[in-house]
Amino acid sequence: MVDEKKCIGCGSCAAICPVNAIKMVKGKAKIDPKICIKCGSCASFCPVGAIKIEK
Ligand code: SF4
Ligand code: SF4
Repeated sequence: MVDEKKCIGCGSCAAICPVNAIKMVKGKAKIDPKICIKCGSCASFCPVGAIKIEK
């Protein structure tokens, strides 16, 4: 999930997601849990550590 208080809206996570599960909504990243395959790429690319992926 995305911590909206930390997210700065850079878009890196949306660009890196291999299955396009992340959309930018009003400047914040939103992960669609139905599409996400929990690969963890977005979490490692987020510059502010706003994303946590529950396995
Ligand atoms: S964990 Fe992987 S599949 Fe899920 S939103 Fe992040 S980059 Fe996309
Ligand atoms: S990479 Fe992090 S700061 Fe950038 S849009 Fe995604 S969640 Fe927000």
